[in-house]
Amino acid sequence: MAIAIKTPGNGLPAAAPDSTAHSTISPVPFEHEQLAVRRGERSGAYCIIAIHSTVLGPALGGLRMWHYSATIDAARDALRLATGMTYKAAAAGLDLGGGKGVICAPAGGLEGDRRRAALLDFGDLVESLGGRYITAEDVGISPADLVAIGERTGHLTGLPADCGGSGDPSPFTAIGVEAAIRACVRTRFGTSDLNGRRVAVVGLGHVGASLARRLAAAGCELIVSDIDARKHALVSGLGAEWVDPKEAMLVECDVLAPCALGGGISADNAARLGCEIVCGSANNQLADEALADVLAEHGVLYAPDFIANAGGLIHVYMEIKGYSEGRAIALAEGIEDTLAGVLELAAERGVSPLDAARGAARERLDAALQN
Ligand code: NAD
Repeated sequence: MAIAIKTPGNGLPAAAPDSTAHSTISPVPFEHEQLAVRRGERSGAYCIIAIHSTVLGPALGGLRMWHYSATIDAARDALRLATGMTYKAAAAGLDLGGGKGVICAPAGGLEGDRRRAALLDFGDLVESLGGRYITAEDVGISPADLVAIGERTGHLTGLPADCGGSGDPSPFTAIGVEAAIRACVRTRFGTSDLNGRRVAVVGLGHVGASLARRLAAAGCELIVSDIDARKHALVSGLGAEWVDPKEAMLVECDVLAPCALGGGISADNAARLGCEIVCGSANNQLADEALADVLAEHGVLYAPDFIANAGGLIHVYMEIKGYSEGRAIALAEGIEDTLAGVLELAAERGVSPLDAARGAARERLDAALQN
């Protein structure tokens, strides 16, 4: 049976992906509370919100604007990312659930009036969920986009500081990653002092550059890399050594801090890393989660990314709870103790830190379900 889709009545062209295109993202286990899919009345773009869990609190997760070859891929991406947010919030001890939003953009992206129309459509969908989902910035979304969404809903966080929000979360993510590195260094070398530790920061973007500056101040010997050659300009200020991005993941060092995109550790390089510890900000650092066991077998201590990079989430959480920069910093620094607990649990149970982190988050969720 054909399903009639309301055509946008405002003259704007439809922006949905090709409905006949093949999916390229694998199916995702459907264990979510809600999946909301609506074709925007103004823009014709599909707006999707996946709510994995609200057991600990409202489902918070950023909005991604991206081109997918098939709409089903956008739904799968939202479902997969929403699940990750549940674990990230639970492991960080926050009273938040996990969710994610997606706007399906056409191949050339969405600009001008069409972009604004899609953002307003998405804002309406967020509002229709009555606060069960809180949106924020993610890939493809700028602070100005969030302001537009804010015209249709108040259920959002991470607005720019001049619009009443708490601003850029990346410095807080960097504080949390540095704290996580201290926990790893203590577990591996018996002291959390970073002075003299050799650390490779791969990806000198918002988080990586901020982390590199913090590590330089802590006395680390830094190796840095980025595919963007303009980032080379940061080297002298950091007193760092620059390596080619093709070699960066394999350099000899105490700590490898992946701060670029996900999937940096793959079946190809996992057994060849030259580091003792992997601890960085990138989401989904392991191309496949089974690689956590490969790293453990090769004696590499891996800090689960969703624990190490929770500082940004903590920062936007504080915006919901009533912002205090001091409290946000203290909570981000608390990642040192959270991760230390996970590493102890992993050693006690004889499992990888990733399994231990997942287990601890699940225990918190189960306990909340029983209350
Ligand atoms: P960003 O876009 O500002 O920086 C990414 C940097 O990585 C860019 O400079 C880019 O040129 C570089 N890069 C890309 N591919 C590379 C490669 N193969 N080798 C070397 N460099 C490469 O992003 P960001 O906000 O700094 O985030 C970095 C990572 O941390 C992302 O995976 C992001 O999802 C994750 N993260 C960020 C935050 C945050 O607060 N911004 C919070 C949690 C997680």
